Amino acid sequence: MPSYTPPLRDIQFVMHEVLGVVDELKKLPRYADIDADTIDAVLEEGGKFASQVLAPLNAVGDAEGCKLDMATQEVKTPTGFKAAYQQYVEGGWPSLSCDPAFGGQGLPHIVNQSFYEMLNASNQAWTMYPGLSHGAYEALVAHGSAEQKRLYLGKLTSGHWTGTMCLTEPQCGTDLGLLRTKAAPQADGSYLLAGNKIFISAGEHDMAENIIHLVLARLPDSPSGSKGISLFVVPKWKVKADGSLGERNGIWCGGLEHKMGIHGNATAQIVLDNAEGSLVGEPNKGLAAMFVMMNAARLGVGMQSLGLTEVAYQNAAAYAKDRLQMRSLSGAKAPDKAADPIVVHPDVRKMLLTARAYAEGGRALAVFTTLLLDKEIASDDETVRKDSADLVALLTPIVKAFFTDNAWIATSHCLQVFGGYGYIRESGMEQFVRDARINMIYEGTNTIQSLDLLGRKVLSDNGARLKKFGKLIADFVEEEGVNENMQEFVNPLAELGEKVTKLTTEIGMKAFKSPDEVGAAAVDYLRVCGHLVYAYLWARMAKVALEKEAGGDAFYAAKLAVARFYFAKLLPETASLIRTARAGAGPMMALDVAMF
Ligand SMILES: Cc1cc2nc3c(=O)[nH]c(=O)nc-3n(C[C@H](O)[C@H](O)[C@H](O)COP(=O)(O)OP(=O)(O)OC[C@H]3O[C@@H](n4cnc5c(N)ncnc54)[C@H](O)[C@@H]3O)c2cc1C
Repeated sequence: MPSYTPPLRDIQFVMHEVLGVVDELKKLPRYADIDADTIDAVLEEGGKFASQVLAPLNAVGDAEGCKLDMATQEVKTPTGFKAAYQQYVEGGWPSLSCDPAFGGQGLPHIVNQSFYEMLNASNQAWTMYPGLSHGAYEALVAHGSAEQKRLYLGKLTSGHWTGTMCLTEPQCGTDLGLLRTKAAPQADGSYLLAGNKIFISAGEHDMAENIIHLVLARLPDSPSGSKGISLFVVPKWKVKADGSLGERNGIWCGGLEHKMGIHGNATAQIVLDNAEGSLVGEPNKGLAAMFVMMNAARLGVGMQSLGLTEVAYQNAAAYAKDRLQMRSLSGAKAPDKAADPIVVHPDVRKMLLTARAYAEGGRALAVFTTLLLDKEIASDDETVRKDSADLVALLTPIVKAFFTDNAWIATSHCLQVFGGYGYIRESGMEQFVRDARINMIYEGTNTIQSLDLLGRKVLSDNGARLKKFGKLIADFVEEEGVNENMQEFVNPLAELGEKVTKLTTEIGMKAFKSPDEVGAAAVDYLRVCGHLVYAYLWARMAKVALEKEAGGDAFYAAKLAVARFYFAKLLPETASLIRTARAGAGPMMALDVAMF
């Protein structure tokens, strides 16, 4: 059975030693009183909840899955899930970074995000139930009416109710313009929704008193395509004016999907049978409103994969120190034993260090991005809000796709470290691989994230957002360029920055001739940008480690070793990615459709 130790030391390193989050947060009026001790204490307790309550339920959830009772159309979650959720609610965990106006604790989002890394590492399937509530909360805060806020936000904040996002239909996944669910206006201002949704995570369950579905649907006479989509809030149990539960609404679970991983999470087919709902925001502007939830969820999916990368690494590292096979090529390292532990073998180390470099680089980027999100939301300086929003928009598809692609690589490597035992269920490693796979698909596949990055976030504004990130790199390179000890990190970072600028211009020029050039280059391009961002953060982490390693704390020596591994063994992947991105659309588009 896998174990999990919350990586509190590394979270503290990133937050306090590298990014100086407390000083940054103190500049935001609502966090003027924040201090490091509070952040650390909350995360320490959060780590206990994750590792002691949720982690033991991870294999249980995988083995049992969810069960739908077709007679009642109620879903029973795996043993222990409901009790853990009650404990989570009683502990006040759902409200960490929610607004005190709705009963929240008003802590910065970085605290909640790091808490979610630990929840996901412990049990991704369970974490999706409360995780989706945060997105629903954000969408209602941004676009809900005063009445919707009054009725729903308090209970979403406390966790007594959970949220979902209902976009997908059988004929409509990536292309939401194809959706057919209808919403008919009623005389009293409400709407009756009819249609079928599929693949709805946490769409039905027994963990909370009510489920608040955010549903995309079409009004009569709305334009076709994505311009005719509106957003509705549809509760499982109708909510009376005084906030108490009314009668059962016409929104039902028609079936549960049998799937590769995250068995403990109910992936529901949802039938809307004249379900009563209310419009969120303006008619036909539903997609924009839903994007608030989708952006939150995209960062959330990144955290799922970060958690899986960390937990897979921890278990593979422990196994590699214990498992004895063969002798080291450079002579016995444990001569008193029958063989050396496999951690002596270079390739085993490569697999472990790959996972570790992705976990630690990802953690730095997660905190970096969420700190920007806190500034975007809470700064009283308009320029800071705008710059932060631009960087969050740029980094969101990278967090979603780069983290999840890396977790797929990392969990697979960590399984490999276990050899045959990794493939056997008892080790728990194969569950991490299966669970990690969905993260590359939902919330917009990673291809769609790449198109979002290259098309919408970079080319559409002539690289203005990218230049803002480039400025951070340029400033750092200039500052550290004179530091002899930093050359091994600063030089490859600066070189890659220049290559990304050139590549972006080249793709932009080609795109004028054929838009397919964007589609052909986007996936490689996102991966190159992911490495650029990681290289920047790894260089910043290396700088701190270099300054502190003389003190003798092994943490800093280890950090430097992983930084050097990252620059020597992972970053060079960008050279081949740039070549394949430059190869253009021709090799993909030449083959006639009939020949596939
Ligand atoms: C376990 C699970 C949970 C989910 N949870 C939810 C949920 O809570 N709420 C919800 O609404 N949905 C949910 N989904 C649905 C999920 O978001 C979709 O599966 C996903 O968006 C992809 O849509 P699709 O499956 O229809 O694939 P399609 O859109 O049919 O895509 C098929 C393939 O074509 C590619 N493709 C499509 N268009 C393009 C393009 N323009 N350029 C290049 N490639 C393209 C895609 O990248 C993909 O590889 C969930 C799915 C699963 C499996």
